[in-house]
Amino acid sequence: MTDEKKLTSQSVDYSAWYNEVVVRAELADYAPVRGCMVVMPYGTALWENCQQGLDRRFKETGHQNALFPLLIPMSFLQKEKDHVEGFKPELAVVTIGGGKELEEPLVVRPTSETVIGHMYAKWVRSYRDLPILINQWGSVVRWEMRTRLFLRTSEFYWQEGHTAHATSDEAQEETRRMLGVYADFAINDAAIAVAEGRKSRTEKFAGAVASYSIEAMMGNKWALQAGTSHFFGQNFAKAFEIRYLDEKNELQYCWTTSWGLSTRMIGAIIMVHGDDQGLKLPPKLAPYQVVIVPIWREEGQKGAVLEAVERVRAELASRFRVKVDAREGYTPGWKFNEWELRGVPLRIEIGPRDVAQQSVMLARRDVAGKAGKSPASMAGLADTVVKLLDTIQAGMLASAAAFMKANTHEARTYDELKQIVADGWAKAYWCGDDECEAKIKEETKASNRNIPLDQGDGGPGRCVVCGQPAEEWAYWARAY
Ligand SMILES: [Zn+2]
Repeated sequence: MTDEKKLTSQSVDYSAWYNEVVVRAELADYAPVRGCMVVMPYGTALWENCQQGLDRRFKETGHQNALFPLLIPMSFLQKEKDHVEGFKPELAVVTIGGGKELEEPLVVRPTSETVIGHMYAKWVRSYRDLPILINQWGSVVRWEMRTRLFLRTSEFYWQEGHTAHATSDEAQEETRRMLGVYADFAINDAAIAVAEGRKSRTEKFAGAVASYSIEAMMGNKWALQAGTSHFFGQNFAKAFEIRYLDEKNELQYCWTTSWGLSTRMIGAIIMVHGDDQGLKLPPKLAPYQVVIVPIWREEGQKGAVLEAVERVRAELASRFRVKVDAREGYTPGWKFNEWELRGVPLRIEIGPRDVAQQSVMLARRDVAGKAGKSPASMAGLADTVVKLLDTIQAGMLASAAAFMKANTHEARTYDELKQIVADGWAKAYWCGDDECEAKIKEETKASNRNIPLDQGDGGPGRCVVCGQPAEEWAYWARAY
């Protein structure tokens, strides 16, 4: 259990705050292999709720789940030139199996385009087999030097969708549709405002024609890429011979996509919503939406209080994820702090006076202190809780969106951009040139987050670096 020490304040050391929250809220712990993480039961419950929210959306958009192998022949990765160059430095390779040197080294999958491409080549024969819409839940390994629980670990958990289509238009539509699914999940389930946009040439996925991302603003105003969707054109179809016979009986290459969202999303949830008291979880994803804390001073009061607690729990349990904390040996105040640190959206306190009045005390995690507390009648409590959780969910999204808006500014000159990215996101026109992008990154540490799909009503402008005409503007920010 957590110790009594207060968390490091966000304003003192944001990074220390983050690490402490992850461990003390019991989301994850450090694994024996450097750079790997153990996702603890509370973190896993949070991830499972993310999975459910996403999986439902994937199925609503026509996808099915499948499971592909962890090990991929090294030669597969070499088939797509950009792909292997992008991933080579991060590969973990198996060279011995069953005590013998393998004829061909096997890669622990860093992502599954290659092996899935190989299978699609086998499965697709005619236009009637298309589209193929498959998603996989699993983990991948990308060797990392500098790691951070949930944000960057050598092994991480995720889902990867892989689709094959008959036409370029269909594949591009799929790429954008799944970006939209991620944005919808982030906004409506995780209560996180996001910017949907296209990645720059240098930031796109290895082997993609175009990559898109959702980007969210963390509490320290850095950006975090929280989900990506890629259009591959025919790159992987050509490398893996994914072909079909069209209606005229002519052989055509498919058009493919992939899209992924990982446990990084948990890092985003922590950093977008968390405060000096700890985690603050959106009701839709919280492992426990409600925690009930019984309060008694004298042993004689205990029976009646616990009986009322059980009645309330039974009424709420069919509609909410409820936890009763009746542990002995901890004061109510200690428990309040504990569940605040672990981000439970709503606390219900029940003491002898509440029992006498057939009422409870509600305490919201998103509104600190007395202002977040209100009494409620035990009669009809479930309806009161539904409304309150909805209010909390909506309030968390509104404050995340307001924070992002308040800390995003337009930069008309390079000097303005420098100032803005020191403490926020900049919106700035960019000519599209790699050199101008590299200069910004080198001199300000801010990277091109994405080029928003919604360019607003701003017409063409001038590149903030070189002054050349620019068609589009991009978000620039320090990023994880
Ligand atoms: Zn330029």
